[in-house]
Amino acid sequence: MKCVSTRGEGPVSLSTALARGLSPDGGLYVFPLEKLPPVHAGATLAETAAQLLAPLFAGESLDVAAVTNAAFTFDAPLLPLDADTWLLEQFHGPTAAFKDFGARFLAEALARLELPPTTILVATSGDTGAAVAAAFHRRPGFRVVILYPDGRVSARQAHQLGAFGDNVRTFRVAGSFDDCQRLAKEAFADASLVQRHGLSSANSISLGRLVPQMASYAHAALVLGSRGLGPVDVIVPTGNLGNALACLMVKRLGLPIGHVTLATNANRVLPEFLSSGRYTPAPSVATLANAMDVGAPSNLERLRYWWPDVGALRDELSADWVDDETIRRTIAATFRATRTAICPHTACGVAVRDRLRARGHQRPLLVAATAHPAKFETIVEPLIGETVEVPSPLAALLSKPAVAKPLAPTLDALRAALG
Ligand SMILES: *Cc1c(COP(=O)(O)O)cnc(C)c1O
Repeated sequence: MKCVSTRGEGPVSLSTALARGLSPDGGLYVFPLEKLPPVHAGATLAETAAQLLAPLFAGESLDVAAVTNAAFTFDAPLLPLDADTWLLEQFHGPTAAFKDFGARFLAEALARLELPPTTILVATSGDTGAAVAAAFHRRPGFRVVILYPDGRVSARQAHQLGAFGDNVRTFRVAGSFDDCQRLAKEAFADASLVQRHGLSSANSISLGRLVPQMASYAHAALVLGSRGLGPVDVIVPTGNLGNALACLMVKRLGLPIGHVTLATNANRVLPEFLSSGRYTPAPSVATLANAMDVGAPSNLERLRYWWPDVGALRDELSADWVDDETIRRTIAATFRATRTAICPHTACGVAVRDRLRARGHQRPLLVAATAHPAKFETIVEPLIGETVEVPSPLAALLSKPAVAKPLAPTLDALRAALG
């Protein structure tokens, strides 16, 4: 597949776009979203993913089936919430959030592209760093450097981030997530640093994360379609817009997906963009759904490239936002009604489901469940009055000692830390 940058550079192969992450002109790589040959539901997510992604890598040497088989060793099961709502559980990977799909695919792909020694530098608001660290942990030729905002991730997220060791180094930055992201950007803009350490990014701007995130939506849409329930409308808890964009991409590639609705937290830049047509980035505000505390969604540039006309975009995409009080109420009410514990991010999606139903929406709905509730137990457990069982991969990480060094939010400090 030929990829170009949203700012004009290219074309390059999809494999090259994966290896580069960001285009040299500062834009994001995109490719034509054209209908694929028919895809059928595989027995596993890995099988569906291999069928879906093979045409995108046609003519390139990367063995996509080998990558999806190695990366997608767990499924994204559908859990019925009521007669016509399903949770798409995207959190059964090693770090218990949907980021495992993208990070593991990227790691398996990069490992096969024979790169020079590479340092993956990743700024994280909590979940990305752990997923990337897990995916590259002990992988020869790769080192991972994680920057996270000290005191602004959940205790279990912090523990997870510091628990890897070996080729993973974790820094708790005295600042916000925006500071971490700025630091990473400054490092990538410093040619001598990039050269010296083989710096590469694994943030959600990389096509190598976006492309694999399409798989769980494709698989779920095909499974529900085979039960006569397609095309299915989807609600996606949203921050940087990577997960939701993957869902829209799958639809354009021809899979049976209907209308997509973004559910954001109180950071409501995207709902405001869709209603007014104007994009006004804002400083992020802290909420219970911390992995979605984003004031300038990085994938918006891609959305606007693919859907330049906001009017046409509105036919396919809506957005709504949810405050912390509603997140709390939704976690408690969902547990009372279904005995299902949901994380604060997923709760944004379920709250938007409740509103759509109240407005008379009757078609089947799929809500992306983006993290396991055990990652946010200090929020969830008091609301449901029970302990949430910790999934075994997460328990294994939490039983290891965790180390994170403090870091001042300056490029000089980061340069020294990189060695
Ligand atoms: C990253 C994340 C999100 C937001 O996903 P985007 O792709 O940034 O929109 C939502 N929920 C959880 C649990 C996350 O880790």
